[in-house]
Amino acid sequence: MKKRILFIATGGTIASEVTALGLRPGVGAEALLRAVPGIRSLCDVESVQLYDLDSTDIGPEQWLGMARVIRENYDSFDGFVLSHGTDTMAYTAAALSYLIQGGAKPVVLTGAQKPIGFDTTDSRVNLLDSFICACREEMHGVMIVFNGRVILGTRARKTHSKSFDAFSSINYPHIADVRDGRVTQYIVPAFGGEPRFYTELNRRVRLMKLIPGADTEELEWLLSRSDALVIESFGVGGLPREMHECVHAAAREGKLIVMTTQVQNEGSDLAVYGTGRPLSEDPLILEAYDMTTEAAVTKLMWLLPIAPEQRSAAALFYTPVNKDILNRAPLLDEAPGVK
Ligand code: ASP
Repeated sequence: MKKRILFIATGGTIASEVTALGLRPGVGAEALLRAVPGIRSLCDVESVQLYDLDSTDIGPEQWLGMARVIRENYDSFDGFVLSHGTDTMAYTAAALSYLIQGGAKPVVLTGAQKPIGFDTTDSRVNLLDSFICACREEMHGVMIVFNGRVILGTRARKTHSKSFDAFSSINYPHIADVRDGRVTQYIVPAFGGEPRFYTELNRRVRLMKLIPGADTEELEWLLSRSDALVIESFGVGGLPREMHECVHAAAREGKLIVMTTQVQNEGSDLAVYGTGRPLSEDPLILEAYDMTTEAAVTKLMWLLPIAPEQRSAAALFYTPVNKDILNRAPLLDEAPGVK
């Protein structure tokens, strides 16, 4: 029997048209489906035009909207395909990985670097590949299907701004390739029973990207406006000496601080250098290790409403969701000297 797939369109280049003001989304969900006739031979599709946005305008409110549509339709469909702009797709994929956990059904995000109406476009193949994956028994949870690669929702990053090969899987292998309609799957994502849907996100999460010469005032300003702060430092991780006390104090006051690196591959290891070791020894300061910044930021937004207390928030941060973290520190309760 044909699978039933819900197609949720949100805008992006894939649905964009040339206008005097630059490319803007305007092609509707049904028109996208009509442009790829193979989809309707493959599965039964219904569509929802949820948004019509460049993904620069997509954020927590829209992530909750997407999760809500999937929740409301979860029992009626076998899988979900979302078309989305590429610019913030990795954030949406990570956010949806936290908002929708445990269920077996695939939630596939895709988009394109060139609009569907262009002669040369990646739109059609990306859409078709996404439906092929959404129909597959062995695909579970949130993923991005793009340029023939299937990437877990917590591991994706946009690494090319123009070429079709827009996304990479960071610190984790991509789980499958799709070529000429055939899927070669290397990893079957784990899933656990009934899906759990979450309906709240805390928007007071900020990211500080360190540059040489950044001063403590900038850090204090960001801390004053956040419940959780991710700090992208250099290399395996560390902070200029003058910032250390400010970060320790903020953590003691209950802010969640996550140290990570702005180097894309291989993650952080804060304990290596003298600029990081004192931070790594503070059990109230967290570290992202091999997580992407996209995953760290959205995980904090998800966990703050359900774990407002610092200790349980830290434990939840280090609890893997959809393979978002492979290496982690001891949990607070396991750390020496913490009561
Ligand atoms: N600006 C577009 C967007 O993110 C880029 C794209 O879709 O490729 O919506």
